This record gives sequence, C-alpha cells and structure tokens, in this order.
Amino acid sequence: MSGKGEKSSGRKSNLEPEPQVNPYADILTCLRDAFNSGRTRPAEFRVSQLCGLSRFLKENRKLLLDALTQDLNKPASEADISEIVLCEGEVKLALNNLHTWMKDEQVEKNLATQMDSAFIRKEPYGVALIIAPWNYPLNLVLVPLVGAIAAGNCVVLKPSEISKGMEKVIAEVLPQYLDKNCFTTVVGGPQEATILLKNKFDYIFFTGSPRVGQIVMSAASKHLTPLTLELGGKNPCYVDDNCDLQNVANRVAWFRFLNAGQTCVAPDYVLCSRETQEKLLPALQRAVTQFYGQDPQNSPDLARIINDKHFHRLQGLLGNGRAAIGGQSDEQERYIAPTVLVDVKETDPVMQEEIFGPILPIFNVQSIDEAIAFIRKREKPLALYAFSNDSKVVNKVLDQTSSGSFGGNDGFMFMTMTSMPFGGVGHSGMGTYHGKFTFDTFSHRRGCLLSSPHLEMFKKIRYPPYSPRHRKLMVWLLEHKLGFPCSIL
Ligand code: NAD
Repeated sequence: MSGKGEKSSGRKSNLEPEPQVNPYADILTCLRDAFNSGRTRPAEFRVSQLCGLSRFLKENRKLLLDALTQDLNKPASEADISEIVLCEGEVKLALNNLHTWMKDEQVEKNLATQMDSAFIRKEPYGVALIIAPWNYPLNLVLVPLVGAIAAGNCVVLKPSEISKGMEKVIAEVLPQYLDKNCFTTVVGGPQEATILLKNKFDYIFFTGSPRVGQIVMSAASKHLTPLTLELGGKNPCYVDDNCDLQNVANRVAWFRFLNAGQTCVAPDYVLCSRETQEKLLPALQRAVTQFYGQDPQNSPDLARIINDKHFHRLQGLLGNGRAAIGGQSDEQERYIAPTVLVDVKETDPVMQEEIFGPILPIFNVQSIDEAIAFIRKREKPLALYAFSNDSKVVNKVLDQTSSGSFGGNDGFMFMTMTSMPFGGVGHSGMGTYHGKFTFDTFSHRRGCLLSSPHLEMFKKIRYPPYSPRHRKLMVWLLEHKLGFPCSIL
C-alpha cells in the first residue's frame, strides 16, 4: 500500500465529497487496528516479516543495484558493502537473537518486594514512522525497519523523494514481502511529509538534516511522540605531525570520496599544521590517482552527485580557498572531481556548512590544543577522527571532545559493527541504533511488578496508622536485598 497527498482540483460539485484533509488517516487507522489486534506481537510474526526482508534483499539484488546506479551511479562494490550486505547482516542478527532480545529481563528486588515477580518487558511502541534521506537510500530505510519489526511495531516508511529509483522499489516491491496491513510506504517530499507528521505516531525515527530534524521534532512534540534524530553536520579529522602520511591519506581519501562524499559520517575537513599539510598533499594526490586513475571522471568507482541542486551547491564550494587537488566539475554528469582545498578561511562556506560531497578542505592549526579548541567551539559532530602514531595524541582528542562516534587512525568502520550504538549527540542528533540498539530504540522498557493477591499480612505494615516500629521495619525492608533470587509467583 502506498499513499500520496492529493491536491484538490478545481471547483467542487454539490455531489462531490468534502476534500480529504488528512489523506493518510485511512492508512493509519488500518495500521493502528492491525497493531491493536496484537498480530505483530508474537515472535513467529516478527520472524516471518524479517524472513520477508531477507527474501526481498536476495531476490531483488539486481533491481536494488540498478536503483542505486540510477540515483547516485553508486559503484556496485560500494552498494554491496554500504547498503545490501549491511542490511542482510542486520536481518540475520535480528533473526538469530530475536528470542533473547524479546525475553523479559528479571531485575533485583528489595525485601519489601521479595515475594513478587519483577521484570522489564520490551513492549512495542505501536505505529512507528521512519523518515529517510537519499544518500544511502536502502540502508537508511531498512536498518531502522529491521529493529522496528523485531520490536513488534507497525511501520509507515517515508523514503526520500530525491532518490527516485530506490523510492519506487521501496514503495512497489518491498510491500510484496511484508504484511500490508502492518507495513506501508508513503511517497512524496516535504509537502507530503508535513501532512503525514500531523498524524499521531507512537514513535518517529528520522534521518536527515538538522534543519528538517527541528521541524520533525516540533511536529512530534504536538503529540508528545518520542523520537530518534539521526542528523548530520561537520566531522573534523585531526592529523598529527607524527603520522604515516600515506596511510592517513589512503584512509582519509577513501572515507571522504566514498559515495562521492555524500556520507553523513565522512571526514568533513582536516585539521593539521602547515608542515603536515605540505607532506599530506602529495600523499593524498597519490591516493586519488591510485583509487580513481589519472582522470577520475572515467573511473567506474566514483559515484555522482544526487541532483542539480546539490551539484550547483558543491560547485560553489569549489571556489573557496585554492584547489590543490582536483577542482574540476561537469554539470552534464553531475561530476565533481575528488578535491582537496587549502588556504580556506574559517568564515568560508566550505568551513561553515556540511559539505556532503567529494571536497576536503584542510584548515591549518599550530597544535593539538588549537585543534581541540577549534572542535569544541563548534556543534558536537556526528563523527570525529584523529590520526597519529602516538596513541596519547589520539586519546587526548578522544578525552577532550564529544561526538556521536569516534575513529582513531581510521574512518567510519564503526558503521559496520552491530555491536556498537550509532547516533549523534547534541546538534548531530539524539538516540542510537544498529544491531540490538535498534530493537531497544523501537521498544518501550516497561517496568513490571506482579504481586500476590493474598499475603496481606506482609503488606499491612505499609498502611496507616503509622507506628515507629512499622516505620523502622519498612525502612529496613526497602534498604535490604536477598543475596539470591526468590519469588513465589
Ligand atoms: P533532509 O533533511 O532534507 O530530508 C530527509 C527526509 O526528510 C526526506 O525523506 C525528506 O523528504 C524529508 N523532509 C524534507 N523536508 C521535510 C519537512 N519539512 N518535514 C518533514 N520531512 C521533510 O535530508 P537529506 O538531504 O535527504 O539528507 C542529507 C542530510 O541527512 C545530511 O545532513 C546528512 O548528514 C544527514 N544524514 C544523517 C545520517 C545519520 O545517520 N545521522 C545518515 C544520512 C544522512
């Protein structure tokens, strides 16, 4: 099932029904009824839907690769490692661990509740909304969806209208693998999303820009809906004087230019001394030539910019500072060469806005302390990187800054690890996901205490009229625990 906000067309006749103010009301009623019926709760249902996702990925591999080529000219290797394989891994992990994740968690009790049963139940929120961006248009829809399904929710998916190839696959092909009464896709852009957000959801999972994140959070606040915000920003990358510069150059270049730089966790700018910059530049040039050849425009391994708007924005940024590497662009192909800018000013747009393209400015600092002060003066980033042969330097950057994730001597390999929570902090977002963390995000942790309806003689000491003896006993019961588990329920 998929829906789109309908515009009214011309004058109404008397027989015409009133225009539908909320075109998503029916979809949401259907999902809410399905959730309230309890069908998403049994583990068997969740397993069957996760298996559906697994089959979707397996049976439509070519279709998915074609959609990623259409949207971003994403090289097949990058599509595999950053989209399809990561999604498959998440589905497999959820299938292997679902029963353990779903289990009630027994908790410690005091003596006053010793004979009761105390546990945390992982309860689905209900109807969740997942809004995704265009840069990893499969991964950023499916990875949250895996956790939402595993946790027992119904879901409305809102893929990006900008990655049109993948939007079509998610709206038209994915539903064939899922229960249509519980999972649906809404297509459209800001206009449709605005109307959609007027509806009450039980959880909202948003990935996108901080600007739209604010709009989504404000819409969620109208219904007091809990939400996760996976946002973006500028990710600093400190390069120490004491480094194996070719290793640094290879790693920074690959993580910056992967997906043509359109990655939320990509190193956004380098902070280093002028002396290190002079040695780093030839190493970066060697890395670019080795990865993409003499003319990167002919390389099959470099993606393209998503649309004309972003192409022109990036073309504008090429004029900041001086292009020491690259700097070329081709509007027809939406090609921007892997570029390194030097002599940039703090006030240049390239040092102010999230770049989200294959452009890497280098900003000079005199010392690690100056680099740390530079980072701390700005919003907390989604990711932060430090490169040095001296682990004390890496640890100093780690200890004295804050960011969603941190990479020492490498790029964003942490994104491939389901054992780690991923998410921003402050301006780069709130909440985490990946692996079990996604299941936890889409689950309400309900504290439950089940008491016997009998045994009133043990409970009576709580009630008035209060006496010093009962008071003392009650305080003692609250303060003490048995050293071993015990319950009569
Ligand atoms: P965006 O914020 O413009 O759009 C994201 C989604 O929000 C899209 O589905 C879009 O249709 C919808 N949207 C747009 N306007 C809206 C509105 N007014 N109300 C409700 N929904 C609206 O972001 P984008 O351009 O698609 O993606 C790029 C941004 O996403 C970058 O800032 C990047 O850093 C960030 N990002 C973050 C992560 C992460 O995991 N933290 C991952 C990928 C991208």
